[in-house]
Amino acid sequence: MVYPETFTALGVIDFDDYLHPKVFEYTPQEFRDFDVDIKIEACGVCGSDVHAVSGNWGRPYAPVAVGHEIIGTIIKIGPKAKASLKLGDRVGVGAQCDCDHTCGACKAGMENYCDNSVGTYFAQTIESKQGTIGGNASHVRVNSSLVFKIPDNIDTQHAAPLLCGGITGFAPLLQAGVKKGDRVGVVGIGGIGHMTILFAKALGCEVTAISRSKSKEADAEKLGADHYLATNDEEAVAAHKHSLDLIVNTGSSFSESAVDHLFPLLKARGKFTFITFPPLSERLNLRPVDLLVRGISVQGSLLGSVEEIEYMLDFASKHNIKPWVETLEMNEENLSQAWQRMQKGDVHYRFTMIGYDKFFKDA
Ligand SMILES: [Zn+2]
Ligand SMILES: [Zn+2]
Repeated sequence: MVYPETFTALGVIDFDDYLHPKVFEYTPQEFRDFDVDIKIEACGVCGSDVHAVSGNWGRPYAPVAVGHEIIGTIIKIGPKAKASLKLGDRVGVGAQCDCDHTCGACKAGMENYCDNSVGTYFAQTIESKQGTIGGNASHVRVNSSLVFKIPDNIDTQHAAPLLCGGITGFAPLLQAGVKKGDRVGVVGIGGIGHMTILFAKALGCEVTAISRSKSKEADAEKLGADHYLATNDEEAVAAHKHSLDLIVNTGSSFSESAVDHLFPLLKARGKFTFITFPPLSERLNLRPVDLLVRGISVQGSLLGSVEEIEYMLDFASKHNIKPWVETLEMNEENLSQAWQRMQKGDVHYRFTMIGYDKFFKDA
């Protein structure tokens, strides 16, 4: 069977053999009045995908395709779908594919913190309690309110990473209300980090790229960072003391020593934001006194709201934000390669898998 009865996907069937993804078919949940079906063209490879397939977050179920930086075309649209969408639109879906629109967070315009938020993979659909599969597939069926029209001047390959990594790094800048001249530190120059640098520069901030060693210095400069700080250089860390209004931590792990290295970089009333999922066992070793004597805030931010994602795409279009992307044709071998190279940090700085039409037609 094929669309519309079933969707074809490429992903993990056996977690012990996750580096050999396989094609499978699945039956999507029943189409609701406010849903759209998207024929997928491309999907970015997020760090979360690699955590998910390799079992770092447990093994909730298989098969699962992962992929939550989806770009494609609307091929079916419900009568109560978001009014701004129409058949044939090129659209994107990020890491959240459904929410209830009735809880307090949704009513306050924070759909990303919905009590019944549904992730694009490794989550249960609200009505049918069916496991979500992800975007490495021929199609995806989602709540149209979490579907976003892609501005014409953003290429598909560059648009894909914006849907998860891009908004994840941009939202904390918006929430902190950074303005021209504010001093922003971005910890971790990787998929999300490099996009955060691009967005912070476009907002007019003075950006300090922060990494463990000097190895990413040339890239940080190309991305537009004004300063570079290697945290293994004690003298340099001391020289940057009390220099930053905001630190966005994009690294996916956070050691105890990082608190000692990074918090002193903040100015009085500076803010420190976590935006990526560290291992669930990780804890912060913080002394409240260190926060209060300098008025430091520590916060978290997950993805972005509907309004923030719409604003981000418009902003990226106007400011010509282009993530650094390496494209790979979608097939078993290349998807596995992408995951393996992500694990080694061997990508500058995002893969976008393309050619879904060709691959899934033959699959
Ligand atoms: Zn992601
Ligand atoms: Zn809600």
